[in-house]
Amino acid sequence: MNGARYYTEPMTDTFASPITEIDERRVTVVLSETCFYPEGGGQPADRGTLAGVSVTDVQKDDAGVIRHTLSHPLAETVSVGDRVSGVIDWPHRWDYMQQHTGQHVLSGALMAEADAATVSVHQGEELTTIEVDREEISPDRLSAVERRANEIIRDDRALRTFWVDSSELEGYRLRRPTSRTGRIRLVEIEEFDLVACGGVHLPRTGMLNLIHLVAVERIRGRLRLAFKIGDRALEDYAAKDEALQRAAFQVSAQPADVPDRLAALISEVQEAGRAHRHMAARIAELELERRLDGTPAHAAAGIVLEGEDQEVFSAIVEHASEEPERRLCVLNRTDSGLHWGIVIGAAYPFPQQELRDGILGPLGAKGGGKPPVWRGIIKDPDDDSADRFRDAFIRVADALHSRPPR
Ligand SMILES: [Zn+2]
Repeated sequence: MNGARYYTEPMTDTFASPITEIDERRVTVVLSETCFYPEGGGQPADRGTLAGVSVTDVQKDDAGVIRHTLSHPLAETVSVGDRVSGVIDWPHRWDYMQQHTGQHVLSGALMAEADAATVSVHQGEELTTIEVDREEISPDRLSAVERRANEIIRDDRALRTFWVDSSELEGYRLRRPTSRTGRIRLVEIEEFDLVACGGVHLPRTGMLNLIHLVAVERIRGRLRLAFKIGDRALEDYAAKDEALQRAAFQVSAQPADVPDRLAALISEVQEAGRAHRHMAARIAELELERRLDGTPAHAAAGIVLEGEDQEVFSAIVEHASEEPERRLCVLNRTDSGLHWGIVIGAAYPFPQQELRDGILGPLGAKGGGKPPVWRGIIKDPDDDSADRFRDAFIRVADALHSRPPR
């Protein structure tokens, strides 16, 4: 594994090295030394360019040979022995070094402050998650973990990496035992944490800036903790701050008062909704009485409303359905279409087929329901749709004979 400069110079983003091997298709290249980190240990491979061609993957084989995969064949003018320049996609590398180094700090802090061992780690696009061997950690302890991690950052401690033989491991107090044998790479955060790891790390903890715990989830009897680490934490803070400022402006409150202000607004809205429904029911009663004034009791009838509030329209239909001998259709012409409601009281058989064939089908009306009420809409009504609906309904309803009393 000679030539793994990503280990000795983790902060180098541009380098040059002679080529030692090019495959026949000229898309796989081996260098005498490289700053490209090959995928491994939960960290992705570096991306970037080699001799100006995009590097899409970097892998290390069992013999320790590192192969760079290119998006396009290398230029014919380039041969084995030529020195080529490599450029690492630095935002990509910087982000995952922060995530990975931050995870070392957090796993150390979890062990120190909550006696929780790291079981697995996932570096996602948005969050880095750490699963620990504990079913529960109190909010106080979790705060202590976060505080400790940020103290380690503030201390700007050095990360030291060194190789030992597995036979020498007894002399080291590793946070997590390793089953590896042979030459083993140890990573130490000065006077805080020591583990075996083959990853690529920031040289100092100060480069992490900030760590924040954003979510705690219980999964398979364990805790999974989600963190914003490094630049991601700062970006997250800025985005959340902006969202909160906008919300504060919208509800005319100081940022810290937004939750209480929202709770008060929600309860006002709920109260207004209740009052609205109550008034709509009262208007519906009066409107039904007024509209049916002079209509013989329980004769089939139709009402056409113009742009009535939908809550009032619904309340009229509901109110009418309380009367077992009612046969009524209610229509409401609005901007969204012609809303319709049909009530056939329980004293009559509900004429499903006749309603479908005689009214809904011919008028292109959508909807249905559960007797005694059907409701729906005609999306694109003609000028005479409401009148045709009402007339057809009265014909169908008049033809019904009441059921014998039960
Ligand atoms: Zn590591």
